[in-house]
Amino acid sequence: MDRQDFTHTIRTQMFVDGRFSESGNGRTFAVFNPATGEEIAQVPDASDADIDAAVTAARRAFEADTWRRMPPAARERLLLKLADLVEQHGDELAALETLNQGKLLGFSKMLEVGGSVQWLRYMAGWATKIEGSTVDLSLAFPPGVRYNASTRRVPAGVVAAIVPWNFPLLMAVWKIAPALACGCTVVLKPAEETPLTAIRLAELAHEAGFPPGVFNVVTGQGETAGAALVRHAQVDKVTFTGSTEVGRIIGKQCASDLKRVSLELGGKSPVIVLDDCDPQRAIEGAAGAIFFNHGQVCTAGSRLYLPRARFDEIVNGIANVARTTVLGSGFDSATQMGPLVSARHRAKVTGMIAQGRAEGGEIVAGGGDGNRPGFFIEPTVIANAANKPLTVVREEVFGPVLVAMPYDEVEEAVAAANASEYGLGASVWTNQLDRALRVVDGVQAGTVWVNTHNMVDPALPFGGFKASGIGREHGRAIIDAYTETKSVCIAY
Ligand code: NAP
Ligand code: MG
Repeated sequence: MDRQDFTHTIRTQMFVDGRFSESGNGRTFAVFNPATGEEIAQVPDASDADIDAAVTAARRAFEADTWRRMPPAARERLLLKLADLVEQHGDELAALETLNQGKLLGFSKMLEVGGSVQWLRYMAGWATKIEGSTVDLSLAFPPGVRYNASTRRVPAGVVAAIVPWNFPLLMAVWKIAPALACGCTVVLKPAEETPLTAIRLAELAHEAGFPPGVFNVVTGQGETAGAALVRHAQVDKVTFTGSTEVGRIIGKQCASDLKRVSLELGGKSPVIVLDDCDPQRAIEGAAGAIFFNHGQVCTAGSRLYLPRARFDEIVNGIANVARTTVLGSGFDSATQMGPLVSARHRAKVTGMIAQGRAEGGEIVAGGGDGNRPGFFIEPTVIANAANKPLTVVREEVFGPVLVAMPYDEVEEAVAAANASEYGLGASVWTNQLDRALRVVDGVQAGTVWVNTHNMVDPALPFGGFKASGIGREHGRAIIDAYTETKSVCIAY
């Protein structure tokens, strides 16, 4: 399927204050089908004035009684209705995501749509379960006066949500579902490469009955629209998922403005195979950890640590998986790996592979572009048998590029895994519980998986140690991120 076969209307305007709108100055930018390189749409390039209009609408909606004083059960019902609409329009949303992002249609259905529905329903339930506490005070003054003291969780206010292009719909829902459950209003800026499903999501939210201005989508460039959103004085809270580089810029701005901020950033996640692990299981597990979503996953298992005696066998097994992976359009059911998101991103990934080779890494499989139109790259396995300090071991590639390294003692593997500025995810592969738990104890990562990788759930907190971020999404933890504590003290 390509653009001509996509029979639904593609919405290409911003959604602000309950209406579709162009940018005030009429400027637009192109979005592409990464499997062919063809332009599929032009979307508005938001200016500072457009950002101001969206934040003003969100502020007005936040201050209005219609949203703020809405009973929690009514907010819950709206989120459940949105989940139903996403489910009902699942085929359309999945096809739109595959057209715009390039991922396999099955994953668009299961993860982008299915995941979004799960998250919306889980977070809908939180709307009615946000609670404070009562507190007995000790400093009763003046004598004879008593106090009734309590805490309430109140919505943080207007939320600016900025998301990347790897899971466009799901990342948007990870932000908006808890923010709306808590009673915040939202201005969402999707990545410039992948704005289409976010626009459609806002339209569905409007159809579900969210009041105008509660959920707005602005399309634009990070350095202009994104930056204007972050520094806008009427934004109370910024929630960002993206690169560590941009996370630092946003973190600095929010520190100076004293705005609340959550940062979900990059990763360089280690996969540690222990010597009792069945080699075939290690091969399948490690290949899945890096090649899933074409390696464009913040927790992609990009550093593989193998027992020296098993190094060649497992590396060759993964190389074989890489060589036999069928590249193609995400709409083709024979395809096992789609394209990278953009020509620019492919140039970055191929540059990092070339640097890995130049610095002494051995390219065991892949390295090429699959010799086809679109932004493809072959799944790539680099053996680093001498444990050289390659740039591709240190820096995030965000593509299907694995570097394998041998180790002698498990402690050595754990130390190597931790010798990274990142700390987002990690996995250990073994059948021996005590050895697994020792690695879990030792690895510095926000999530450690045992005999699995990349598994996430709305109930399980997710986020980074070190330069992989600040704060946790999902579960109970996310409610704190979108609320403030208000202490109330009544004398009697
Ligand atoms: P990115 O370049 O950091 O961009 C992310 C978002 O920020 C985009 O919407 C981008 O807009 C915007 N942006 C860029 N510069 C900005 C600025 N100065 N001020 C405000 N906003 C700005 O990241 P990406 O390339 O889209 O995504 C890949 C990165 O995301 C990887 O590092 C990956 O690890 C990380 N990621 C992390 C998680 C997690 O949960 N920890 C999940 C997924 C991805 P434009 O699109 O216009 O540039
Ligand atoms: Mg970008």
